Amino acid sequence: MSVLNQKTIKQSITIKGVGLHTGFMTSMKINPGEPNTGIIFKRTDLKKNNYIVPSVFNVSDTTLCTTISNEFGVKVSTIEHLLAAMYVLGLDNALIELDSQEVPIMDGSAKNFVDMIMSTGLEVSDMPLKFIKIEKSVLINKDSKFIKIDKSNITLDIDFEIKYKNPLIGTQQNKVSVYQDDLTDTLNSRTFCLYEDIDKLKKAGLAKGGSLDNAIVVKDKEILNDEGLRNDLEFVNHKILDCIGDIYLSGYKLIGSIKCSQGGHSLTNELLREVFKDKSNFSIFEVKEKSLPHSFINKSLLKSIA
Ligand SMILES: [Zn+2]
Repeated sequence: MSVLNQKTIKQSITIKGVGLHTGFMTSMKINPGEPNTGIIFKRTDLKKNNYIVPSVFNVSDTTLCTTISNEFGVKVSTIEHLLAAMYVLGLDNALIELDSQEVPIMDGSAKNFVDMIMSTGLEVSDMPLKFIKIEKSVLINKDSKFIKIDKSNITLDIDFEIKYKNPLIGTQQNKVSVYQDDLTDTLNSRTFCLYEDIDKLKKAGLAKGGSLDNAIVVKDKEILNDEGLRNDLEFVNHKILDCIGDIYLSGYKLIGSIKCSQGGHSLTNELLREVFKDKSNFSIFEVKEKSLPHSFINKSLLKSIA
């Protein structure tokens, strides 16, 4: 059986934790999914109209996290770290049941999701993987921010830059090749906020579950978390993690090259909506090992696909 076929989780796993913004305690169960069904969310606290598909077009809010809604207005929020873990691990099909509206934040990174999925393992199906290949460049410019996507041969490259006035965060830039690089640092990087913004967030009804256990808090030149940073580029690496999760809302793995400066959930969503507006911007193909270029067969390079 080809390692380039679709995969699901071997057995159901349950993860419990608090939601970053709602503060609700949530129990989340990741169940195996049938080939070609993709990732589907189900709200078990509701009796009907409770399935929500993570799609670029179902994104209903991008304020500090990504929220998706179905046609009945039923939501699931803060899906991006979980989806990034699934993207990187190559988990293509799963039914995710939640008894509340927000995915648990865990430690603020994708680490716990990765550890739990890996400890259960993946099952390979007999259906080939599907990819979206970018054929034309698309650019979204907003004031000093931008995100753009270009063609690439077989890779998904993400080149991200952040610029903060805060001297400790400052300007950070990093580039990853999602199917080839070791993404441990990206997956382990936590969400962050400035100490002076906490009051504003709480007044806006956000970050009710936020604490030093699930976010890096920066006050001037100081990090308030005892453990400090997990890696030198943790801030920008977390933005790359968010970007991977948001890209998974395309439905399939992407082949393209992304460059972003000071973007986030909203800009990534705008970019993907623009890409999918015009069919000549992309193509969809199935990977058959026989038809792959020689360089792509090198499975040691295919960490996430394989
Ligand atoms: Zn995030």
